[in-house]
Amino acid sequence: MSYKNINTALIHGGISIDERTGAVNIPIYQTSTYKQDGLGKMRGYEYSRTGNPTREALESLIAELEGGYAGFAFASGMAATTAVLSLFHSGDRILISSNVYGGTFRVLDKVFDHFGFTYRISDTSDSAAFEKDITEDVKAVIIESPANPLMTVTDIRAIADISHRHGVTVIVDNTFMTPYLQQPLKLGADIVVHSATKYLGGHSDVVAGLAVVSTEEQAHQLAFIQNSTGGVLAPFDSFLLIRGIKTLSVRMDRHTDNALKAARFLKEHKGVSKVFYPGLEDDPGYEVNLRQARNGGAMISFELADGYDINTFFESLKLVTLAESLGGVESLVCHPSTMTHASIPKDIRDRVGITDGLIRLSVGIEDIDDIISDLAQAIERSEVQK
Ligand SMILES: *Cc1c(COP(=O)(O)O)cnc(C)c1O
Repeated sequence: MSYKNINTALIHGGISIDERTGAVNIPIYQTSTYKQDGLGKMRGYEYSRTGNPTREALESLIAELEGGYAGFAFASGMAATTAVLSLFHSGDRILISSNVYGGTFRVLDKVFDHFGFTYRISDTSDSAAFEKDITEDVKAVIIESPANPLMTVTDIRAIADISHRHGVTVIVDNTFMTPYLQQPLKLGADIVVHSATKYLGGHSDVVAGLAVVSTEEQAHQLAFIQNSTGGVLAPFDSFLLIRGIKTLSVRMDRHTDNALKAARFLKEHKGVSKVFYPGLEDDPGYEVNLRQARNGGAMISFELADGYDINTFFESLKLVTLAESLGGVESLVCHPSTMTHASIPKDIRDRVGITDGLIRLSVGIEDIDDIISDLAQAIERSEVQK
């Protein structure tokens, strides 16, 4: 059965009870193969690359949460994106938003280009400019909203409407928002991908990816690609994700309350020159984001003002941890130009505004007063003595 309220669906959605034993958690079916009762007489499973009950429970859950036709679980977000991109052909082109995840850029720029599937950067936050970029060969667009790391908001419905007029498939990387904050398929997108490593897992203990498609035809194609290329998620990791997803809404409520407070604090601080957060009313993406999402999420980027040293800032943090990744219960900070976005050439980084002074903060669910005091003391220490 499916649940209208996402708070309930997070816990009971998809296949949530083990039919055989009644266990309220789907067991970890740690098996590669399954007994056949005779030639061609399978009990629903034959080999775990093709299908595994723990993975299947997760796949049915994410499909329900995103309101899609079918879900697929992969060994990482990049494996999910790679599988989805494998739906396209040599000669096709994909448009990508200007500040797409570094790994998505890299796989298109350095891997898919070998096979003649090309990309072009397009400003999806400007619908008119985006429509001009749709040439005959464009078959898909991949959007993140808010996009990493400048939190640029794209009007998903507007891009979907334009794309569908031109027969272009709309893929949304919903990692930053999760289905609790934003449901792209309901806004007209065709496919959603996730790095479930982030908020869906939520505890920085698993690397995983998910994809959700909206039609039976796409489901058949992606199931074929998943089984053929084999980047599937293991049963134990599938279990961890199901477990993480149960608490998604309570975690996201705390993450986003904390983020709004942290963003307001940074905005007021004389040591901070810019704050990028679509949950602030004066952010350029505020209104469009509020139309399509519950709130501004929990990712903030900011720049220190002149006279503050970024290295000292990072080295002075005591609670907030300098690390790649995001979306875990602990607050993490990173330096996009040398970490998450280092695979994007410097001239493109400069052009789209990923400066060397940019800091990205994933606001955790610790006490907000502790997060803010840590940021405050690190900013103070980083002021260069005159
Ligand atoms: C981390 C991330 C990815 C890649 O996911 P992995 O699980 O690290 O492979 C893709 N998109 C976004 C927005 C991400 O943050």
